[in-house]
Order: sequence, then structure tokens, then C-alpha cells
Amino acid sequence: LASRIFKPEPTIVKVGDIEIGGKNIVIMAGPCAVESREQLFESAMAVKRAGAHFLRGGAYKPRTSPYSFQGLEEEGLKMLSEARELTGLKIVTEVMDVHSVEKVAEYADVLQIGARNMQNFSLLKAVGRMNKPVLLKRGLAATLEEWLSAAEYILNEGNKDVILCERGIRTFETYTRNTLDLSAVPAIKKLSHLPIIVDPSHGTGRWHLVPSMAKAAVAAGADGLIIEVHPDPKNALSDGPQSLTPDNFESLVKELKIIAEAV
Ligand code: PEP
Ligand code: MN
Repeated sequence: LASRIFKPEPTIVKVGDIEIGGKNIVIMAGPCAVESREQLFESAMAVKRAGAHFLRGGAYKPRTSPYSFQGLEEEGLKMLSEARELTGLKIVTEVMDVHSVEKVAEYADVLQIGARNMQNFSLLKAVGRMNKPVLLKRGLAATLEEWLSAAEYILNEGNKDVILCERGIRTFETYTRNTLDLSAVPAIKKLSHLPIIVDPSHGTGRWHLVPSMAKAAVAAGADGLIIEVHPDPKNALSDGPQSLTPDNFESLVKELKIIAEAV
């Protein structure tokens, strides 16, 4: 179902009047985690002003350590939907387990499956039964074939609105948090009809690498980007080192528009 051979024409995922996989680049931006109402609203207004279409932010956070901030859970979801009211931005947020699928779907416009859950097959089937688009991140060490098989689980349950997200894979390199595999963009375009966006924030782990990789992703044919933006990256509760300030994000969006027109 995910294959180009099965469906030659590209899939366009519609969220309200936004089309992912259409002519325009779709930009999702916001903090790694929802930390407070003030932090979220400040982020939301900044990314809206800069030209983003979606607000991102995790209310349930898959942290490596159980002692790290785990997210505000339903309280965070409520703040996200308040931020949608305030700005008109669509909401993309992570659903971490089968039990919270219904709850997250009440608040989100797009359900995000994190890299660590790419092969959580019961979760994939559960979101496959929902009537909400799914953003499927590539697993930490997943091949393109494994990633498309994960998408297949969602499609096979009847949900046709799957968006793939390249977010870097584990290699021997340690300077960057992950190695962003931009060749995945044209490769997926060849193998599949599904739209693909790129996450240069988790892909590099360093904010100063984000603008270059975001521009390269658009040049490679990505349908959109998901970028971490925080009003005060130094004091962020998660992923501060890879988060852009609102000012840096705004400059990047201007540059992206020029590249998108040239592609
Ligand atoms: C995130 O988007 O904040 C996140 C946890 O991403 P990933 O699942 O790609 O690590
Ligand atoms: Mn993050």
C-alpha cells in the first residue's frame, strides 16, 4: 500500500486547508516539549509570525532517562489546543502508547509516532484505526524498507494519511546527535507515494547546523520540515542545544521560501 507501484500518484495529506505533499513546503515548529502555558504561547506566536503552519510540542515525552522531564501529559494537550485557538496553527504532538491514542487524538490535528516507537506494531495499528493523519518518524536504526513496512501497518488498518519524517539515524559519528540521511528524501520519493518531511533538529542535535540542513532538505525535495524552536533554548527542559531562537527561525523561514521557489 505504501509503494509507488501500487499507487503511482503522490499522496497529499490534507489538514484543514494545509496540504502536505502538495506544491508548498509545510513548516511545523515549536518547542521539543510543552513546558508551561507561557513558554508554549510565546513559542506559538513566534513561529506563527515567522510563517509556520503547524505548532509542534510534546505533552508525552519519550526520554532516555526516567529522571528527565516526562511532559505535562493531558495538561500539555490542553495548552496545545489553546495555542491552536490563539494562533490558528495546526497541532502535531506525539502519542507514546496505545492507551493514550484516543486522548491525544481529541486534541491533535496530526498524531506523531516517535522514532523509538516506529516498530511498536500495536501502536501503529491503533493509529491506523484513527481518523487523523499520522506523522511517522524513522526509527533510530531503521532501513527504508523497515520504515515503509511500519507505514504499511498504519495504511493496512485503513488510515491513508501517513506522512514520513526523516530525523537522522545512528552512526559512528558523535559530533552530531544523529546522522541526517537526506538521501532518504529522493529515495522515498522513488519507492513510495507518501509525503516526506525532515527534522533537522533531532537529525543534528546542534542548533547551528539546523538552518543548513533545513535548506538542504528542501533542495532535496522534502515536502516540509519539523523544527524545534524555543524562546529560551538555554533553559529548555529538553533539547535546548538543538533549538533555534525565534529570531533565527524567522531568518531561516525567509531563506527557505527562496529555495522552495527555485526547486
Ligand atoms: C521529538 O520530536 O521531540 C522527538 C522525541 O523526536 P524523535 O522521536 O525523532 O526522537
Ligand atoms: Mn526533541
